[in-house]
Amino acid sequence: MASNCLFCKIAAGEIPSTTVYSDDDLYAFRDIKAAAPQHILLIPRKHIESVSHLEEVDATVMGRLMVTARRIAEQEGFAEDGFRCVINTGTDGGQTVGHLHLHLLAGRHLTWPPG
Ligand code: 5GP
Ligand code: ZN
Repeated sequence: MASNCLFCKIAAGEIPSTTVYSDDDLYAFRDIKAAAPQHILLIPRKHIESVSHLEEVDATVMGRLMVTARRIAEQEGFAEDGFRCVINTGTDGGQTVGHLHLHLLAGRHLTWPPG
């Protein structure tokens, strides 16, 4: 855990959040500023700053992250209608929190491409 990291603190329960999914390696919670009717953030509990910081050792948890996205989509009832998975990375990617997170967006038709 990175002591100064917002999402490490959220995963540890030190900062409150609305839990959507939790296991030993992953944590999912509702985004505080929803950009779609359903907006969930899914993170590895391990502090990984971004996709740009991934190492081979992280392959298993990132695979589980994607499979869990599917599981959450079913749990929350939007798997059939569809959803979008987004991982913003770095400054140009629009990343504002330095702990890798997958945005799960659903609940309405989302336009493409984003701005
Ligand atoms: P990014 O821009 O880094 O891809 O996404 C960061 C996301 O984290 C944003 O959608 C923002 O609304 C969300 N966020 C920032 N601070 C908090 C917080 O304290 N609690 C929750 N639940 N979401 C947060
Ligand atoms: Zn962190």
